[in-house]
Amino acid sequence: MGKLFDITPEIIQTYQDGIDDIIDQLGRIISVSMKPKLVDCPNCGWDSFRKRSNNRYQAGGPKPFTDGQQCPYCYGKGKLNNVRNVEFKATVAWNPKDFEPFTQGSVETPRTIVKTKTYIWFRDHIEKCEHAIIEDIVCKLIKKPIPRGLQESRYVVAYWEVINK
Ligand SMILES: [Zn+2]
Repeated sequence: MGKLFDITPEIIQTYQDGIDDIIDQLGRIISVSMKPKLVDCPNCGWDSFRKRSNNRYQAGGPKPFTDGQQCPYCYGKGKLNNVRNVEFKATVAWNPKDFEPFTQGSVETPRTIVKTKTYIWFRDHIEKCEHAIIEDIVCKLIKKPIPRGLQESRYVVAYWEVINK
């Protein structure tokens, strides 16, 4: 028995539904840029000895070319940098009160911090992204994302700093 009331699965569900609604309805679109990944060129074969394109068209590839010529899709490299952007919704709070500033060195420089909260399944993207675009502003992660939730971690909170360019 609880001191005041018992936390039932229904109460937890209500709480979760409320947060889900806030994220889904009030959340802003966050776009994170993942590190480019080297992938095989879909247009040519791979020469594992020379570590480059084998200059042979691969059936089904987007830009047919004559065997022996340079692949026009990867320019003979055989690999492509796959740039990946992932978008998701998150609640956004600029300069949140709960942020504990941690200074580098002795001088505290003014920083613009933004806190986001979204579903836990975007944790990996948040952790591994190179930067995020939050309300058209480029930001970088400054702290390991923090899982949140009542019983299970359903959400993840992240703190970002505006990159001054
Ligand atoms: Zn190619």
